[in-house]
Amino acid sequence: LEAHISALAAHRDLNAFITETADLARQQAKTAASRLQRGEAGLLEGLPIAIKDLFCTTDVLTTAASHILDGFKPPYESSVTRKLWGEGALCLGKTNLDEFAMGSANVTSYYGPVRSPWTAVGDNVAVVPGGSSGGSAAAVAARIALAATGTDTGGSIRQPAAFCGITGIKPTYGRCSRFGVIAFASSLDQPGAFGRSVEDCALFLEAMAGYDPNDSTSADLPVPDWKSEVGGGVKGMRIGLPREYRVDGMPSEIEQIWQQGASWLKAQGAEIVEISLPHTKYALPTYYIIAPAEASSNLARYDGMRFGLRVPGKNLAETYMKTRGEGFGAEVRRRIMIGTYVLSAGYYDAYYLKAQKVRRRIADDFTQAFEHCDAILTPTAPSAAFRVGDKMDDPVAMYLNDVFTVPSSLAGLPGISVPAGLSASGLPLGLQVIGRPWDEMTCFKVGRAIE
Ligand code: GLN
Repeated sequence: LEAHISALAAHRDLNAFITETADLARQQAKTAASRLQRGEAGLLEGLPIAIKDLFCTTDVLTTAASHILDGFKPPYESSVTRKLWGEGALCLGKTNLDEFAMGSANVTSYYGPVRSPWTAVGDNVAVVPGGSSGGSAAAVAARIALAATGTDTGGSIRQPAAFCGITGIKPTYGRCSRFGVIAFASSLDQPGAFGRSVEDCALFLEAMAGYDPNDSTSADLPVPDWKSEVGGGVKGMRIGLPREYRVDGMPSEIEQIWQQGASWLKAQGAEIVEISLPHTKYALPTYYIIAPAEASSNLARYDGMRFGLRVPGKNLAETYMKTRGEGFGAEVRRRIMIGTYVLSAGYYDAYYLKAQKVRRRIADDFTQAFEHCDAILTPTAPSAAFRVGDKMDDPVAMYLNDVFTVPSSLAGLPGISVPAGLSASGLPLGLQVIGRPWDEMTCFKVGRAIE
């Protein structure tokens, strides 16, 4: 624990943490030590980890990286973190993220951008860790934490894992409880895990997952013993490569790493098949209607009355306006405007309802594809990490970065990103493995065969 606390202090330049909780970790370590002595160790007994600052932690500042939650210390614990402490994990701190998890580069945080521990060869400008769970990914990549929690709405675990050269899994929607996780888009949000290896992720996710009566979308299914079977191999599996994922302008090194991944799996006994996901091109526009719609509704609760920031005005309406105007950053305000627009009476049918119908088509594509394969292999992102500051004034360019992660999110499917190699500039590239609903096991096995 002390070595990890020193690493945390040595890497403050990364800005990976919003709140450090070394004293809490030391306290938890005492309990862990005595439980270990008594032979009562939990799954994660004594392991120092980090928590994305979107999970509520009792009496510990929880910000969602937003000014609007200034000073918010939740009176209750999220179900996922409660489970982690129950399994003996030690809390190093709360990690930085894009404000309310909206972003792909961790540059929209009120607490400033996170930088990746990686830099491109021959360049000394910082690159982004990806987003929105950028602080968690950077903390694991920089060897500050052994593992970290993230949340993934449209790629926020898989893409930062790819950018930082580590492993990240978004389980099936409903596998981990969302209770006490600050909401972005409730039909898509899903907690998941970052680790240095597939095996670490399997162990960590086992500790996080499971039914929770406090979350009506959490699934009442047993949590499999993933960690014991990650090494099961891919012999006889059919791995699908979706032809629609060869997008225009994708750098050739991404195409190459994808083919390389397929050939590694083939060499280990898998069969590679081409599949089709015909509605892929509609996934980004669909996501960027549904996610902002749900966000605009979820964010209505930040009114300056109940918690966090209050900027007083002459009357109640002005207090609302001032608080929300000052409390939310530009990207969050953009999403609220898009969301309220697509939900408004005159446009609901044309945008929101249409997007829901297309979402169903996208999910059906996957169901059909899984008749021909056991898992789907794709690049995680269409490029390696870019410089901090790039794409900042072009929100659409930023949204395009989610092209490979968003379709499976809309379908609620599990997906893992594993490190697969380096770009010409010496930055990590990741491959994504998408599985059938509740089949994280296959994601782990295929991921393990690649890493
Ligand atoms: N980049 C996507 C967005 O900005 C996904 C974010 C996420 O998964 N939380 O909405």
